[in-house]
Amino acid sequence: MLRIGKWAPSHGESDEGHVYWHDGLAPLISTRAVPLESVEVAVIGSGYTGLHAAIVTARAGRSTQVIDKHMPGWGCSTRNGGQISPSIKPTLATMTRKYGANQAMAIRDEGYKSLDWIDNFITREKIDCHFKKCGRFQAAHTPAHFDALVRDTQKLGKEEGVEFKIVPRDDQRKELGTDSYYGGVMLTNHASLDPAKYYVGLLKKAKLAGAEVTGNCPAQDIRKDHEVYIITTPKGEIRAKNIIIATNGYINKNADESQLKTNSCHFVTSTQALEYVPDVDPALDEITRILRPRGAFVNVSILWDHFKFHGADEKLNEKVHEAFRAHCSHQMLPMELPGKLTRRGFENIKDRSLAVVITRRDDNSPARYSEAVMANFALTQGVSAEEVSDWKSQLERAEKQGRFGFTSFPVLTSAHLS
Ligand SMILES: Cc1cc2nc3c(=O)[nH]c(=O)nc-3n(C[C@H](O)[C@H](O)[C@H](O)COP(=O)(O)OP(=O)(O)OC[C@H]3O[C@@H](n4cnc5c(N)ncnc54)[C@H](O)[C@@H]3O)c2cc1C
Repeated sequence: MLRIGKWAPSHGESDEGHVYWHDGLAPLISTRAVPLESVEVAVIGSGYTGLHAAIVTARAGRSTQVIDKHMPGWGCSTRNGGQISPSIKPTLATMTRKYGANQAMAIRDEGYKSLDWIDNFITREKIDCHFKKCGRFQAAHTPAHFDALVRDTQKLGKEEGVEFKIVPRDDQRKELGTDSYYGGVMLTNHASLDPAKYYVGLLKKAKLAGAEVTGNCPAQDIRKDHEVYIITTPKGEIRAKNIIIATNGYINKNADESQLKTNSCHFVTSTQALEYVPDVDPALDEITRILRPRGAFVNVSILWDHFKFHGADEKLNEKVHEAFRAHCSHQMLPMELPGKLTRRGFENIKDRSLAVVITRRDDNSPARYSEAVMANFALTQGVSAEEVSDWKSQLERAEKQGRFGFTSFPVLTSAHLS
């Protein structure tokens, strides 16, 4: 066995910051210094996803090699909050509109079943990770927030059978050991665990099942030769009949270094991404480089200057919007794109408005979602919790009085390289 690395300081104290869960955790260990050259299943990424997959394939008798760019468990599987929620983000009503009642209910049930599944899995596999059905306390930061929390949760209870307990401020010390909040709501059917200890348990199970795990072994390229995948790594090539990519969001590329070949793409599309790239010109140069002659570029970006809520007190509304400007590098990218594209040899440049106007704050509507995003962001920019809460209450009141509005102005820009 090879010791690939330590949690701290090389991992736990790295520039990503100290990770609470890594304290006292034994170093995680690879089973092989170099990966197997030929396997039935290669798993790229050694987090929960990769290891759960590896446990299944190895137990089914398939030779399995897991590789990770860093040491095993480097990703968010050892860095998360350890909360296990049986709920699915969209409400049942939203899913019913989208998929019909039966499918929506089936998706909903999957959420509930997942909590039982992990409970059984941890018990059966005897994984020591402090798993506990302890519920989840949602604390209110103002009296108005408490009322809203209670109202929203009662609605979920009625419509979706979500189990909960209202905790008034006087009782909250029993749950949280503090009087700092204004009471809250306990979602009783939630659990928690120590995410890194859970990970350690999974790693042991994967190894016991016969899966090999090799850290510091990034997949640099994947190509297919007839029926075999060939994965290039700095520690040698792996030939695999099947591959499972479980790398999560860790795609470590800049917008100006796609590593795609010149003139290799028929299309390049980007949806609400380019406006966040601070140095957008090199990204556009890269798009131009990889497109074939006559290749198409399609971009959707929002005109953030026109992303507006209406109905709150004007001064406070302006303050929240002003704070939100910092969230994005290019507020009006669609206005700049035609010039930038023309200078790079694009033609047939067209703009199409995808503007939306919403006058209700329905759950899961873009207005409600944007309101939450903006409110959270404003808190990080020095707008006080009280002001943010007032702003939301004012929008709620405006809706009741029939004078609420939200406008967003995305623009679809399309062009062809000459
Ligand atoms: C701050 C935070 C809090 C969270 N809280 C919760 C929570 O309370 N409850 C909950 O259920 N979920 C939570 N999550 C989400 C949860 O952590 C993830 O959904 C889960 O860990 C994803 O597991 P994974 O195996 O897909 O990815 P990861 O654990 O991220 O593993 C992906 C691995 O792929 C590797 N990799 C990337 N590129 C390559 C490559 N080219 N070659 C080889 N390896 C590569 C990475 O090094 C990494 O180790 C949270 C996430 C974060 C960030």
